[in-house]
Amino acid sequence: MDTTLRAIPIASAAAQYATIKDETDAAVHRVLDSGWFILGAEVEAFEREFAAYCGVAHAVGVGNGTDALMLALKALDVGPGDEVITVPMTAAFGAFAITMNGATPVFVDIEPGTANMDATLLEQAITPRTKAIMPVHLYGQAADLGAIMAIAARHGIPVVEDAAQAHGALYDGKRVGSIGAIAGFSFYPSKNLGAAGDGGAVTTNDAALAEKVRMLRNGGQRGKYEHVIQGVNSRLDEMQAAVLRVKLAHLDAWNSARRRLAHRYDELLAGSSVELPEERHGAAPEGHVWHLFAVRHPHRDALAAYLKERGIGTAVHYPAALHLQPAFASLGLGVGAYPVAERQAREELSLPLYPELTTEDVAYVADAVRAFEG
Ligand SMILES: *Cc1c(COP(=O)(O)O)cnc(C)c1O
Repeated sequence: MDTTLRAIPIASAAAQYATIKDETDAAVHRVLDSGWFILGAEVEAFEREFAAYCGVAHAVGVGNGTDALMLALKALDVGPGDEVITVPMTAAFGAFAITMNGATPVFVDIEPGTANMDATLLEQAITPRTKAIMPVHLYGQAADLGAIMAIAARHGIPVVEDAAQAHGALYDGKRVGSIGAIAGFSFYPSKNLGAAGDGGAVTTNDAALAEKVRMLRNGGQRGKYEHVIQGVNSRLDEMQAAVLRVKLAHLDAWNSARRRLAHRYDELLAGSSVELPEERHGAAPEGHVWHLFAVRHPHRDALAAYLKERGIGTAVHYPAALHLQPAFASLGLGVGAYPVAERQAREELSLPLYPELTTEDVAYVADAVRAFEG
């Protein structure tokens, strides 16, 4: 066992910047020199490049991932009185995309292995008010879209993919973001494709939906000062688009590195006291892009403290299921409503995983996990 104390953060944006410093600096200066900062050539180019990457006809750059989902739902006319089905184990921001439109989130519990929506529980959650179904591709792995899309199609309900954690992930050989009616991505700095600030995108194959999101993000305008619908101000800016164009070219290599390191964790932690995340059976093995390496342990907090003493950063995604957060108290859902999500909240721990992590770092973390006797 490596007994030298290391310092291994949960993630490192600075380590990534060091690998692409020259091209990133050049892109930022290109924008500064141009004197054009909102909705210009960089955003247009990034939208083209990101759409091509996702294998989808349209991408629309917006201010952040929350707005991407909010505008995707708004483009589908989700509003007061409507219900949108999603999961209770995710970033709260995704559920706020629903409530920001005046609609009500309806939760479906998750599968224990992948922590994604349990499609076997979906149909019973559908009501005459269900306006959309929003599965989340949690931790970088596509939700069970085959089953979810089939149920949605049977009821004539559109699927909105929350792809905020899964840039480049595949489901049955197709990129996430190209499978549902419409999808939202986040470029929050720690995501697999992260900006140097906030950013997001909506993707869709539907030209009418894309056009609507384009208007919605920019004050509901069709042309300058022609406000045809109630819009918002949520635009990806030129600086972020320029940075994202640099990083998009590296995304596949970074996702491959994440995958290689995740599989190393799998080997080194097999038979240990942590429960390993499940890689979906039947989906292409290269489909998971490992945004997070999320293990479970019954003594999660003690394990986190133990690792911290050894210089290892960890995080919890997420410490409370959404129905138990104060912000969603008005839904009137108590403890026990979604037991699998509640267990995930109690036991989940994300270990360090990012493309610049070395195999020696992974071995050090795995040794420390194995040495923990909680
Ligand atoms: C990050 C994230 C969001 C929100 O994206 P922001 O860019 O932070 O607004 C929504 N859903 C999920 C699953 C996320 O991980």
